[in-house]
Amino acid sequence: MQDQQFLLCPFDRQPTAVHEDSVYSLKKNFALIELLERLEQSNSEKTMVLERERHQSNQSCDEDEAHTAVLYCTVCATHLCETCDTATHSSKTLGKHRRVPLSEKPREKPRCPIHMEHAAEFTCTQEGCHNSLMCYLCKEYGKHSTHKPALVEEEAENIRKSIIAALQKMTQFMESMRDTAHKIESNADGSAYSFKEN
Ligand SMILES: [Zn+2]
Ligand SMILES: [Zn+2]
Ligand SMILES: [Zn+2]
Ligand SMILES: [Zn+2]
Repeated sequence: MQDQQFLLCPFDRQPTAVHEDSVYSLKKNFALIELLERLEQSNSEKTMVLERERHQSNQSCDEDEAHTAVLYCTVCATHLCETCDTATHSSKTLGKHRRVPLSEKPREKPRCPIHMEHAAEFTCTQEGCHNSLMCYLCKEYGKHSTHKPALVEEEAENIRKSIIAALQKMTQFMESMRDTAHKIESNADGSAYSFKEN
């Protein structure tokens, strides 16, 4: 009995006798096999996503310009290739950084055309300024300081609203056109009819 041992199944605690060199005769653990297959599948899905990113990407890796970036770290705000992503995020802490496929990188706020280091939070609605983007410095002290500022988001919302209003007017116009067309048609029918009657 020296060469015989028992292994307990980690799932149902069933003992299985194991002889020397007989690991290969062990019962297959189908749950584990399925898990491994699923892992493989999700790995290949990841590979496919990154492959697609590689084709689309025209962004170089921030670690090495020769590499093509496929991922974006939302914490470091860096564009990375897969290799440099693994290299720069290999520690436990950094591994927690949320990284997204490059094409899903969150949109950055637009920059002020005069002060590149500042976000353009406002637009100028003054006539002649054509909603030009500006930062708080431009708004307070620049040439737009006496103009009419608006928050970029609000202005975007206003534009959205006016587009919707224009679309509604357009729909109304189309409907009244259709009505008129109907009226003309039925009038034409009517006159044709009355013409026959006479
Ligand atoms: Zn990071
Ligand atoms: Zn790289
Ligand atoms: Zn500015
Ligand atoms: Zn202005």
